[in-house]
Amino acid sequence: MAEDRVNLLGLPRSELEAFVAERLEAKPFRARQLMKWIYRRGAADFSVMTDLAGDFRLRLAEVAKISVPEIVAEQRSSDGTRKWMLRMDAVQGIETVYIPEPDRGTLCISSQVGCAMDCTFCATAQQGFNRNLSVAEIVGQVWLAHRELEAPLRITNIVLMGMGEPLANYRNVVPAMRVFTDDLGYDLSRRRVTLSTSGLVPQMYKLAEECNVALAVSLHAPNDALRNELVPINRKHPIDELLAACWHYIDKQNGRSVTFEYVMLDGINDKPEHARQLARLLRGRPAKLNLIPFNVFPGTRYRRSPAATILRFRDILNENGVIATIRRTRGDDIDAACGQLAGQVTDRTLVRLGSRLTAASRSSAEV
Ligand code: SAH
Repeated sequence: MAEDRVNLLGLPRSELEAFVAERLEAKPFRARQLMKWIYRRGAADFSVMTDLAGDFRLRLAEVAKISVPEIVAEQRSSDGTRKWMLRMDAVQGIETVYIPEPDRGTLCISSQVGCAMDCTFCATAQQGFNRNLSVAEIVGQVWLAHRELEAPLRITNIVLMGMGEPLANYRNVVPAMRVFTDDLGYDLSRRRVTLSTSGLVPQMYKLAEECNVALAVSLHAPNDALRNELVPINRKHPIDELLAACWHYIDKQNGRSVTFEYVMLDGINDKPEHARQLARLLRGRPAKLNLIPFNVFPGTRYRRSPAATILRFRDILNENGVIATIRRTRGDDIDAACGQLAGQVTDRTLVRLGSRLTAASRSSAEV
């Protein structure tokens, strides 16, 4: 029986309402009560839900469960950043990172076990791809972080910038984002939920219609020749297609902008000419550029651009009418910074874009 029980964690409101109606012949307000318990009060057990009638709770426990991922390890950075490694099943693990700042608390969550996009400068790519996370596994990361964080630490922002390409797991990512923004879920405005993509253009058009959250795009190069190398999906969806999708997305939001992520790789994409090319692409557009100092990881062939180079790059952009900021690196002492999340991916199916897959996959990162 237990195997047939539906996991309520992550069910968007409409699905939960349908579930209680069909399986329990209950009114929609029961679904709303359940959501408050699960997300606001962090309940994982029907027995604590004291405003639900006893017999309803018993019937509920027969057909449903609230099943959350398990934390297998936690690390804390000297800067307050926390990283949890979560067990997804017997062998797979993913990582979730909390980044506290004076005015906000950002939770960086994963959407896949590993990643198939094969970006050359990213630690997750080295792990290969294993599988998509379920809705419960995506929402479960937020549920667990809520439980673990002591007051007054709060989650004010969620970024899908952990392991995986969220738009490659569209089917599960969109319902999860509905729970993040539902006032009975985590009640975040759509501006405070950011999806970052390496550039899956068709899904960007779909997302614009269906769940218009804040958008971040991993650009990393100002021309196709270089981007084909660094972000192999560019061979399928080149920069002009990608940017057209971005401007369409923003048209649908009236008045916000896309954040373009640009990792600063020493001698690769950090020359003044690159900054000028970027400015030509983005000037006059609803765009902000976030320069990310490259975070090194074992086995990488890249180096971080020197601080002076990054500053100069930013200044050229600003002088040419593009807003650019430098992302402060957080949590790098515990390998929790951008691109350092490696989790534990075994059973890789070695589904990767690009052709430079080498036989020697690196062993899983130790947490
Ligand atoms: N797959 C999505 C979500 C990952 S977001 C995407 O590509 O957008 C993680 C961000 O960190 C992306 O912008 C990614 O390009 C960047 N990143 C990856 N490796 C990095 C590294 N080693 N140093 C700094 N940033 C990195």
